[in-house]
Amino acid sequence: MISVKKALVSIKKSCEITIHSETININNAINCVISSDILSPINMPPFRQSAMDGYALNIHSNLNYELKGEIKAGDNINPLLKPGEAVRIFTGAPVPDSANAVMMQEKTTIKNEVLYLTESVKPDTNIRPLGEQVLKGDVALKKGAKLNSAAIAYLTSLGITEVKVYKKPKIAIVVTGNELAQAGEPLQYGQIFESNAAMLESALKKSGYDNVTIHQVADNYEKTLKTLKEVLHLNDVLLVSGGISVGDYDFVGSALKELGVTEHFYKVKQKPGKPLFFGQKDEKYVFALPGNPAAALTCFYIYVLTALERLNGNSDFSLHKINAVSQSNFIKKGNRAQFLKAVYSNDSVEILEGQNSSMLHTFAIANALVFLDEDITQIIKGDKVETILLPIH
Ligand code: AMP
Ligand code: MG
Repeated sequence: MISVKKALVSIKKSCEITIHSETININNAINCVISSDILSPINMPPFRQSAMDGYALNIHSNLNYELKGEIKAGDNINPLLKPGEAVRIFTGAPVPDSANAVMMQEKTTIKNEVLYLTESVKPDTNIRPLGEQVLKGDVALKKGAKLNSAAIAYLTSLGITEVKVYKKPKIAIVVTGNELAQAGEPLQYGQIFESNAAMLESALKKSGYDNVTIHQVADNYEKTLKTLKEVLHLNDVLLVSGGISVGDYDFVGSALKELGVTEHFYKVKQKPGKPLFFGQKDEKYVFALPGNPAAALTCFYIYVLTALERLNGNSDFSLHKINAVSQSNFIKKGNRAQFLKAVYSNDSVEILEGQNSSMLHTFAIANALVFLDEDITQIIKGDKVETILLPIH
């Protein structure tokens, strides 16, 4: 049994950044990580732009200006202004080369077709210089940047339509258990509705991993071996749920061994999620998660996400951790580290009732996990506790 810390180190060591890249349409690139620097094909902005509705001026010594027409956004004109001349201009319109400031219209009046400034204006005011955001040929975004909506808009604003990104891993979820029925079907005595697949798939989607298939297998060695062999062949990452404990009908560990999956670790000194297995075959990674739903989800956030982010080029990834003031007392039994479902807000955290690894009703309203390392035995209300914010919003 290894510690939480060592388990994380093992994952970080094993999950090298994938070397596989692909070029994809930018419209499909949300959450992808770019695999090489992107150079800007244009200056942005591509011309000197007005940042205001107002008047573009060729500044002179007094506050009166002669008006010389107008320039709207999209106009393709560049009139020559002499000192003391101005044009009406609108936000986003090209500022004439001969203008050196834009005065916002709120600071002007017009009398008898003459423009009066209510105060003086300094050169360069309200002009977005050519290439202010990025110059043609300069690095627009660095390798390793994860594309969010702003990044996609930024690259699109540079005229970029395709991006080279790390290939997202193909992930298979395999749920095991004779007791599993599908929601929507009648529930026989002894059965439960299978819920780990929906849990893991939606958590994967939330983090931008949508190349996911779901498989189900009974507690039978031959069937488990067959299914795992097939999905190992076709995928980069396997998330197996259940069947990894020490029961007589837990066949996942022996099947993985038979398939040549090398164990990095099996069993972590933690609660929930003690039976977690992590292994590898070539460039394929296998997490065998405990079947208990809250344990599986805890392991997903703490370990699986770290592995996936690293494989996806995001080597600096870690969950957001803060020290928060506990609003609850808690006594820890045993010497395993513990992740406690909790609700965090405004620097304080409430540890929820119902911490059992089979319980989802508390996880459903949790937004954080309070982490108690092996040596911590209790929390007293008012203590500062390590709080991991879950990536659920
Ligand atoms: P196992 O790890 O297979 O021993 O399962 C531990 C507990 O988790 C048992 O109570 C199972 O019924 C439950 N469980 C296993 N797989 C699932 C699943 N896919 N959805 C919901 N509960 C599950
Ligand atoms: Mg089982």
